[in-house]
Amino acid sequence: MWIDTHCHLDAPEFADTLEVVIQKAANKDVKAILLPAVKAADCASVKGLAHQYSQQIPGLVYTLGIHPLYTNQAQESDIQILESHIIDSLSDPRFVGVGEIGLDYFVEDLDPHRQEFFFNAQLDLAQKYQLPVILHVRRSQDAILKALRRRNIPGGIAHAFNGSFQQAEQFIGLGFKLGFGGAATYERALQIRRLLQELPLESIVTETDAPDIPPAWLRGEGIALNEPAFLPRIAKELALVRGIGAAEFSSATWCNAMQALPRWSALCADIPSLNLAP
Ligand SMILES: [Zn+2]
Repeated sequence: MWIDTHCHLDAPEFADTLEVVIQKAANKDVKAILLPAVKAADCASVKGLAHQYSQQIPGLVYTLGIHPLYTNQAQESDIQILESHIIDSLSDPRFVGVGEIGLDYFVEDLDPHRQEFFFNAQLDLAQKYQLPVILHVRRSQDAILKALRRRNIPGGIAHAFNGSFQQAEQFIGLGFKLGFGGAATYERALQIRRLLQELPLESIVTETDAPDIPPAWLRGEGIALNEPAFLPRIAKELALVRGIGAAEFSSATWCNAMQALPRWSALCADIPSLNLAP
């Protein structure tokens, strides 16, 4: 069985096809998906989706947060709205952490100070409620590491990781797993492939970031949208790059994700089809 630790099922690209997209993923043995919210106004809908499709994807879970790309349009009062959603969700076993949060120093029209305000305020919430975080890290590895070191955050996942070995080791030292997906299926992605080959296997988790980051073979087929049903094929290509068998990679990446997000692990332990060794 396979796990997609980062999938935006609530993206407008899936609005008309969601039922089919989820069923296709279920048919491909994707048993668990993490759905991160990207703005305060979406908190209720990601929670709703995680419950609505739990029959098809038993390990479907969500995190709540404000994505750096949405900070230009966010209000400071969204932090209070987010906190009240977090409080309401603490009793929900499908709620597993704070995210997607982070810093994006690649997109130029984002105000860095605004981004830092929302990122720091959300890290404070993660610390207050002792929740792991799902991080968006783009040209901001060192700033994010610095903010994490100032707090006591119980780890999480640095998604779509693309930093140096030294930065990777620092995230791992702070209790983080690193997310790999479609980007590593491109032969020219030398640095990401080297990370995937050489980092400890215990630090790697799989993700699609659907509908974004389409894997290499989709380009060839002229398909622009990534989806969770592609996770197993992406993961098998990652296993090839790593030089290990698909079964070993499936089992390791499942366990790694569960270790990073204890609430996800607790949910899966209560579901008979998920608490067997993968
Ligand atoms: Zn994302």
